Amino acid sequence: MKRQNCVSCGAHNAMHWFEGRDFEVDFKALKKPVAALSGWQCETCSEIELDPGSAQRYSDASDELIYQSRREVANEMKRIRRKLHFTQRTAVELLSGGGHNAFSRYERAEIDPPKPLFVLMRLLDRHPELVDDIKSISEGKEPWHPSSAREGEHPLT
Ligand SMILES: [Zn+2]
Repeated sequence: MKRQNCVSCGAHNAMHWFEGRDFEVDFKALKKPVAALSGWQCETCSEIELDPGSAQRYSDASDELIYQSRREVANEMKRIRRKLHFTQRTAVELLSGGGHNAFSRYERAEIDPPKPLFVLMRLLDRHPELVDDIKSISEGKEPWHPSSAREGEHPLT
């Protein structure tokens, strides 16, 4: 049986060679199997050192998962925006701010939307009736409570 010193903890001859082991990469809620990898595992600290070919396949699977997750977020952003009858421009004006093409970039999976924005979109998906509130708040027609605003500005008085 092939053995070597552990590259991580240094334990003498503690790494065993393995082949044909199935792994699973995950990212957020997504999982993806990666079959038949080979490499070394330490019996002392459990560190795994994949052989170069296996490490490449593992890392490719991980990249695919991240890209898949980004595409799913992108599709979800688009689906919800359309459901709310917003153009990309309106969505930027009311919800996200930032560059005029921000939503276009989110929906093409070029960049991830900021988490608060994605949470807001999913909230609006569940409660589309809140769009009217969003509009009046976002357009500045709805003053927040004046006394609490003053307290916020002068917390010591
Ligand atoms: Zn070790």
